[in-house]
Amino acid sequence: MTQSLATTLYRGFIGRCPRCGQGRVLFAYLRVMPECLICHERLGHIRADDGPAYFTLFAVAHVVVPGALWVEQAWSPPMGPFVAATMAAALTLIGILLPAFKGATVALMWRLRLKGDEHQGD
Ligand SMILES: [Zn+2]
Repeated sequence: MTQSLATTLYRGFIGRCPRCGQGRVLFAYLRVMPECLICHERLGHIRADDGPAYFTLFAVAHVVVPGALWVEQAWSPPMGPFVAATMAAALTLIGILLPAFKGATVALMWRLRLKGDEHQGD
């Protein structure tokens, strides 16, 4: 393996196979491809579980909450439309970032040769 960690994460983040960078890593929004259609690397056994949701929530909260506080301080908009717009912004960002973070998580797990069924010692 000669590619850098940044390359692996970038390929996953843009939805590409971590090995070849050409095939897709996800289908049907969040399902992991059984194998890359270009290089035939097996990917479907990798289980990202809650990692992508955690990373997405972390990123979205750090954008939307400061943004909402800034808008509220600057313009004091009516509460109903303000809350609706804030929720719409948060849901839009989640919809965009969730597959990106899932791709990056699967790519990182692929690089570390993790499958997601590893057990921690008792
Ligand atoms: Zn591939």
